[in-house]
Amino acid sequence: MFDFKGKVALVTGASRGIGRAIAVELARGGASVALNYAGNEAAAAEALALVERAGAPRARLLRFDVADPAACQAAIDAVVAELGGLHVLVNNAGIAVDQLVMRLKDEDWRRQLDVNLTGAFHLIRAATRPMMKARGGAIVNLSSVVGEMGNAGQAAYAATKAGLIGLTKSVARELASRSIRCNAVTPGFIGTDMTAALPEAARGKMLENIPLGRLGSAEEVARAVCFLASDEASYVTGEVLKVNGGMYM
Ligand code: NAP
Repeated sequence: MFDFKGKVALVTGASRGIGRAIAVELARGGASVALNYAGNEAAAAEALALVERAGAPRARLLRFDVADPAACQAAIDAVVAELGGLHVLVNNAGIAVDQLVMRLKDEDWRRQLDVNLTGAFHLIRAATRPMMKARGGAIVNLSSVVGEMGNAGQAAYAATKAGLIGLTKSVARELASRSIRCNAVTPGFIGTDMTAALPEAARGKMLENIPLGRLGSAEEVARAVCFLASDEASYVTGEVLKVNGGMYM
């Protein structure tokens, strides 16, 4: 467990899966947490209850589409006004629309870029001012092992995740002088709704390529994210931390 007492965090895509686990882990460390989600009200309410139970002094839900720049700015403003600042931003919201490149539709290419990559840009841009005001901050972006190694059927998704690595390193360089760190985590094959959608044959094949021989859990990713978001990682910036069971080294 990491110490986030007195800190305020915003986690996107926090209603389910990895984002929910990150929000809970931040709360366990004493952070006040704003949980973003897209539209799944029931999952969001459940995540909020878990975050409150985990010990967050303050917590609130924020429903907005990270692809909408005005909504992102409004959300950051609301977090600062209502929770008292912003110290940690976790860009976790993401979608995957799998398709072979020859059949990939323009709208599916664009939507994945808008949500996974441009969404992170919108929030980083809006978070910069309050983090400078706080004289420091930590940003963690959820990339993916497929951003590092590519994957057939995931050209658009992999492109967004590779893009997040370039964004992470550029922001790390740009904001280091303001004591704002920016890092990325590249999860491998993690057991969430996103991977539950995979056919059984594809799952089996994937497991053969994981030296640790199993899927990772959302909590295992959350602990890596929280390390990078915490003061324990005070000299770590521009890093890409693999959490993939050895699937890619
Ligand atoms: P998930 O279970 O599918 O959950 C996705 C979350 O993102 C939900 O909270 C969803 O909200 C939210 N969301 C989706 N579109 C959004 C939008 N436009 N604006 C705001 N929120 C939005 O995903 P996951 O498996 O936990 O993955 C989380 C992150 O880790 C993603 O970036 C993913 O690419 C990355 N990742 C996952 C894996 C894996 O194996 N699972 C591996 C590598 C990387 P609603 O509940 O309201 O729909």
